[in-house]
Amino acid sequence: MIHKLLKTKKFIPNEFHDTFFDIDFENLYQKGYRVILTDLDNTLITYDELVPTEKIIKKLDSLRKLGFEVVIISNNHPPRIKSFLKETDYKGIGNARKPLSVGIKKALKLTNHTYSKDQVIIIGDQLMTDVYGANRFSVYSILVNPIKRKTEKWYTKINRKIEVKMLEKIKSKELEKYNELNLSKRV
Ligand SMILES: [Mg+2]
Repeated sequence: MIHKLLKTKKFIPNEFHDTFFDIDFENLYQKGYRVILTDLDNTLITYDELVPTEKIIKKLDSLRKLGFEVVIISNNHPPRIKSFLKETDYKGIGNARKPLSVGIKKALKLTNHTYSKDQVIIIGDQLMTDVYGANRFSVYSILVNPIKRKTEKWYTKINRKIEVKMLEKIKSKELEKYNELNLSKRV
């Protein structure tokens, strides 16, 4: 199985929370972070929602007020991202190909200013794409639980299976980290 070939440390997030709303963004701002690259599906909205909820827009606006630049970075097809962004003035990219760096670099080009890697946070609900992508690119990684599992696509379900194995590996090799991050609460 593929998980045996992968380095465990590359799959450990810096933080893990149940939802996007549980992240302490003020604290992250104080630590010097300025850019939030966030996943879309099951991180901000579910697969069956086409447009942002009022709650998520309010949240993104509050992050902007705090001083963050927010960019959506999604592996889903571009029309999906367009539909989400249409009524907003947020920027984002589809086909990001996380965990590869190509999409991350593209997303960072959409910010108004230039930032260094230690100012960037990547947030997402998947270990194999979002967290691995962030860690490969050496930026701060935050894992959240998926909002709703039922409507996930087939390729996401495959990634989930590998993730379960990877979580077991983290638990056996890095138990202290596993406990500190509360990864037993991962769903
Ligand atoms: Mg996702």
